[in-house]
Amino acid sequence: MADGTYADFYRRSIDAPESFWAEQAQAIDWHRPWDTVLDRSHPPFSAWFVGGQTNLCHNAVDRHLAERADQAALVYVSTETGQERTYSYADLHREVQIMAASLQSLGVGRGDRVLIYMPMIPEAVFAMLSCVRLGAVHSVVFGGFASVSLAARIDDARPKAIISADAGSRGGKVIPYKPLLDEALRLSQHPPKQVVVVDRGLVGWAREALRDISYADLRAQHHDAEVPCVWVESTHPSYILYTSGTTGKPKGVQRDTGGYAVALQLSMRAVFGGKAAETFFCTSDIGWVVGHSYIVYAPLLCGMTTILYEGTPLRPDAAVFWRVAEQYRANLMFSAPTAMRVLKRHDPSLLHRHDLSSLRAIFLAGEPLDEPTGRWVAESLGKPVIDNYWQTETGWPILATPQAFPEVSSRMGSPGVAMPGYKVCLRNETDGAPVGVGEKGVLAIDWPLPPGCLQTIWGDDTRYVNTYWSTYPNRQVYSTFDWGRQDADGYIYILGRTDDVINVAGHRLGTREIEESISAHPAVAEVAVVGVQDALKGQSAWAFVVPRPGQESVSEASLQAAIAAHVDAQLGAVARPQRICLVTALPKTRSGKMLRRAIQAICEGRDPGDLTTLEDPLALQQIPDAIARP
Ligand code: AMP
Repeated sequence: MADGTYADFYRRSIDAPESFWAEQAQAIDWHRPWDTVLDRSHPPFSAWFVGGQTNLCHNAVDRHLAERADQAALVYVSTETGQERTYSYADLHREVQIMAASLQSLGVGRGDRVLIYMPMIPEAVFAMLSCVRLGAVHSVVFGGFASVSLAARIDDARPKAIISADAGSRGGKVIPYKPLLDEALRLSQHPPKQVVVVDRGLVGWAREALRDISYADLRAQHHDAEVPCVWVESTHPSYILYTSGTTGKPKGVQRDTGGYAVALQLSMRAVFGGKAAETFFCTSDIGWVVGHSYIVYAPLLCGMTTILYEGTPLRPDAAVFWRVAEQYRANLMFSAPTAMRVLKRHDPSLLHRHDLSSLRAIFLAGEPLDEPTGRWVAESLGKPVIDNYWQTETGWPILATPQAFPEVSSRMGSPGVAMPGYKVCLRNETDGAPVGVGEKGVLAIDWPLPPGCLQTIWGDDTRYVNTYWSTYPNRQVYSTFDWGRQDADGYIYILGRTDDVINVAGHRLGTREIEESISAHPAVAEVAVVGVQDALKGQSAWAFVVPRPGQESVSEASLQAAIAAHVDAQLGAVARPQRICLVTALPKTRSGKMLRRAIQAICEGRDPGDLTTLEDPLALQQIPDAIARP
């Protein structure tokens, strides 16, 4: 990948970012070269490869046709439906053009948004690639989200079209998507005129005349379509991906085109050690950033084979990941700590049932990797386990052990060292001054962020600046909202969030979003949601609910069930609190601020800390009683 040590490689990325990234940018095709590598004129914004024109789909698909048309590009494995299908780069090229022509026939073009609400099926990947082929901006919404979450994302992105499916399937249970989408469209202020439905034949669906179109019909009309790539500016948005923050309104992380392509190819080679023609197996979902970057774009940009897996880690048994890895000779795997904790509860001999000789390493990210799980995976598989830390916002790892530089070894408990271009600094919470070695500080990144990171929040530059760049008024510093500690060798240890964002099974959720949903239930007067440590999922959401007067005749169990069902229907089961505890009051300060941290501490059996500002001590005393009730 590069001559020299990682220390030199990293140093160059920081001291001379323009020449470093210009060199990296040679690894992708440009229709027109850039004029300026990095536009620094509008801090804290940064723009990469300004004036350059390229296309993500060209780089992910078309440009490989000369050398690897017959090589597998996409392997689809569904343990839900029993289907397995391999698409070569030539097949992928064909399918993407058919989907692109279909979208064009609906009027989709450069800059238009297309919302993708789909299960893990090949058409979801075709949809993403066909959007960027046309210069359209995709917004993939995780299939586990329900109608209110979906409607909020429709209204923010205002898509010209939506692509969905009749249903998904999880653990053998069919989950209809179309009714949730119909409800979201009913709730939305800006519904698109067209909805494309990929009919998998899993469940019947109601077709709304003039609006809903079956993809099979479009496909038949465009089966031999040839749709050239639309060259776009490097800074042209490729996608929006919503993520949770501390308010109820999700943030649309906006990604560029050229910088993202360059950063992903660098990350695949330097961080993951992946090479063309190798196979990458990422078990995430296309609805999350890991899926965008490491199921779809990075492996394809690098001419690899990517595996798209629809299923759980446990069906037909807890060896299914390893069966897939063996069958398709996966060289690198990427999963989440929760999935490994799930597997750890099953027969360890399952890890030895399959021939994993092709596999070099497994990468885990999205949530803290606890040491026992990390050791268990490493010892059971006999392969390196590489923790890596990043965020939806950054699109690729901030911290990792770069596989292309074997002199950098991993350290248990730490996701690793700063990746190229990230000027990571741990800073004092109040004044932003750098903290010393071993001291706890806010993990911050000095401006400018490297290529591939978010450009802004979709439609809201002010929110972007206020959210990420305003923690320390006199410094151009991006806050990750994570606490960290750095050792003398530069390894960083993540110590939890500084805000109310929680991480359930690697899924980032805002406690405020869940609170807003629960408060909308007619029986609820007030609610506080906190994240509580969970042995399996890392954290789980617990809700403390004050019912409205007049609910006395309703049993506690039925009220809890009604609230859970309400969250399921509004946000999706992914956001359903693990526990819903009824109380008569919530602990607040005299100025009315909810003492979420004190509630969380009690739930985790810790000391609730300083309570001098507490208004009503009885409210806090109720918490342990409420938890103790079954
Ligand atoms: P998301 O944007 O959903 O990927 O969530 C990003 C957040 O997940 C980070 O800000 C961290 O709080 C957490 N996170 C991601 N990866 C790791 C990791 N390797 N170790 C600890 N926390 C992590």
